[in-house]
Amino acid sequence: MDRQSIINGLKEIVGPENVLTSDMDMALYSYDASLEKGMPDVVVMPGSTEEVSKIMALAYKEKVPILARGSGTNLTGGTIPVKGGIVVHFSRMNHILEIDIPNRTVTVEPGVITLDLQTEVLKKGFVYQPDPASQKVSTIGGNIAENSGGPHCLKYGVTSNHIQGLELVLNDGSVIRTGGKSWDNPGYDIKGLFVGCEGTLGLVTRAILKLERAPEAVKTMLAIYETIEDGANTVSAIIAEGIIPATLEMMDNRVMRAVEETIKVGYPLDAAAVLIIELDGMPEGMDENAEKIIEICKRNNVREVKLAKDEAERGLLWAGRKGAFGSVGQVRPSYLCCDGTVPRTKLPEVLGKVIEIGQKYDLPIGNVFHAGDGNLHPLIMFDERDPDEKERVLKAATEILKACADAGGTISGEHGIGLEKLRETAFIFCENDLEFERKLKKAFDPDGIINPGKMIPEPVCVQ
Ligand SMILES: Cc1cc2nc3c(=O)[nH]c(=O)nc-3n(C[C@H](O)[C@H](O)[C@H](O)COP(=O)(O)OP(=O)(O)OC[C@H]3O[C@@H](n4cnc5c(N)ncnc54)[C@H](O)[C@@H]3O)c2cc1C
Repeated sequence: MDRQSIINGLKEIVGPENVLTSDMDMALYSYDASLEKGMPDVVVMPGSTEEVSKIMALAYKEKVPILARGSGTNLTGGTIPVKGGIVVHFSRMNHILEIDIPNRTVTVEPGVITLDLQTEVLKKGFVYQPDPASQKVSTIGGNIAENSGGPHCLKYGVTSNHIQGLELVLNDGSVIRTGGKSWDNPGYDIKGLFVGCEGTLGLVTRAILKLERAPEAVKTMLAIYETIEDGANTVSAIIAEGIIPATLEMMDNRVMRAVEETIKVGYPLDAAAVLIIELDGMPEGMDENAEKIIEICKRNNVREVKLAKDEAERGLLWAGRKGAFGSVGQVRPSYLCCDGTVPRTKLPEVLGKVIEIGQKYDLPIGNVFHAGDGNLHPLIMFDERDPDEKERVLKAATEILKACADAGGTISGEHGIGLEKLRETAFIFCENDLEFERKLKKAFDPDGIINPGKMIPEPVCVQ
């Protein structure tokens, strides 16, 4: 079937106003928050599961590539249509369908913006915990596909720990439901397979998410360090003491400078690094834990620990952290955000290697990351228009991920593999591991049309 016939078929399913075809529109959907690019043939915006099912059935019949898109904030090329085809943009399926307080669940469509959901449930005194720093823009569908993390995931776990049920549209358009409001559902854990599959197995059209009571008290501190090592050592020391704060986020001097140029939080620009430490829960015992943490910070040579005095001060500290990527983006035209995880005791060693790699390739690298999870985000700043600089960036990123893998860690903490890290899968998987993943993918998508080219590299040809 030619492009025009596919477009006509899609228009019949969703109405002409919900199908985009112009060159300008295709260009707008040719990129995401990664450095990758690729043109779709057509973009479609369904309004219901039934429409998604019909779109999938059309793609299946005509063997046309198809991929889902939330807000396109993923950092690994997950929404790049490398083989063209249909982009299914979930912007219209953005409704919170049911907040069920007795069962502590919320049922949503995949295009709901993460922060919109969190704001709504908070009005009822509840929280949906996973809080990627992109939460103002990212969608629940994207969070599920990437198994997103965030500052509060240290204590509460990543997205997979908060998904109770999914409605899925499979490759031929059939609709299935997995999990639900009850716990411990029998059968294969299909939702476990879909969370983090980077949209390569099918499309999520509805999700049942877990709610928790909002904490009664919160205490937020800023610990200021003369060296990055001291900050990193504090992280392991706090956890070793048996205290799990809600968050332990670290930011180095380069990132603080970028933030101060744009958001003006009041971070100490003469310090090497800061830790944002937040405790939450019942008020009882919180002061004692805060004192213990301050003591541990002192043992690790902290210069000062500042306590946020009120909600406004706390909000400002978080605005700096959550706006850090955007601020860095204003220092140089482009940045590449590496995403590797190491056992947290290895943080000082691997951060040292990141600095060495930056020097080797003559590239400025800032660090702002989920330190409590050992999840590093070296931000390599550069100008994408300079091919030599871009090549050095890609080499540096690969070396950083190798350093994480060699330290007993892995090549993604939360951003996934996408297109960007296909080669680096060799650092953590052997061919047998990858072959098993290929078989799984084939079971769901024998024609290889669902988000092709992502997450699993092509088999290595042996002559
Ligand atoms: C400034 C910034 C800060 C960030 N901070 C964090 C962070 O703290 N933690 C974190 O984990 N990530 C972070 N990210 C990465 C990104 O925001 C997350 O991966 C997010 O979950 C992507 O959501 P999205 O709606 O933009 O998805 P998209 O980018 O549109 O899609 C991501 C993937 O999900 C698939 N997908 C989308 N919707 C569906 C669906 N309905 N069914 C099946 N597949 C689907 C897509 O095909 C794609 O493979 C950050 C990104 C930026 C730019």
